[in-house]
Amino acid sequence: MYLKRIETIGFKSFADKTVVEFEKGVTAVVGPNGSGKSNISDAIRWVLGEQSAKSLRGAKMEDIIFAGTSTRKPLNFAEVTLVLDNSCHSLPIDYEEVSITRRVYRTGDGEYLINKQKVRLKDVIDLIMDTGIGHDSLSIISQDKVKAIVEARVEERRTIIEEAAGVLKYKMRKKEATRKLESTSDNLSRVQDIIFEIE
Ligand code: ATP
Repeated sequence: MYLKRIETIGFKSFADKTVVEFEKGVTAVVGPNGSGKSNISDAIRWVLGEQSAKSLRGAKMEDIIFAGTSTRKPLNFAEVTLVLDNSCHSLPIDYEEVSITRRVYRTGDGEYLINKQKVRLKDVIDLIMDTGIGHDSLSIISQDKVKAIVEARVEERRTIIEEAAGVLKYKMRKKEATRKLESTSDNLSRVQDIIFEIE
């Protein structure tokens, strides 16, 4: 699997539809300071479900929408699409090419799409989990991340290794199943209390 293309409209400095094609191999994005290089990696993290405005170098999520310039009005929405080559089928979906889209409006409404079909954030996360391309995965290393990994506590470093080893998905599923079991067990004791009162 590899990232073939990223398409943005209204994301940060990319007011107009902007398409960046990635060939196989190494791609270097070069440009003057402030020209939008980091905005490309922000766009990739955002479409993959990043929820923290701070991680995207903003104060609030709305800051990712094109804010306008002296000659141009602000836009009311931002949209990013990643197009992934899935001919090796490492994404668990039966398509050779997979697009993941995220859209957000200034009202705060937003949506996710996989191959143009509306989905939940959970579906996007499930699709990319353990592929190494998650918004907080090790495939996107920001300028301060290297330092953070070196200085991480032992437990945090263990999470990094678990993600790289592909066991994080199962740990998260176990956590979800345990939570459901606990809530079912609470419901059962409530039912037992009611039965006891009726008898
Ligand atoms: P450097 O080389 O200094 O790290 P860079 O090429 O990585 O710079 P970015 O940080 O990606 O540049 O882009 C910063 C630019 O994006 C700034 O000019 C900033 O005004 C613009 N920008 C950020 N958010 C928005 C927004 N919501 N609307 C319009 N422009 C924005």
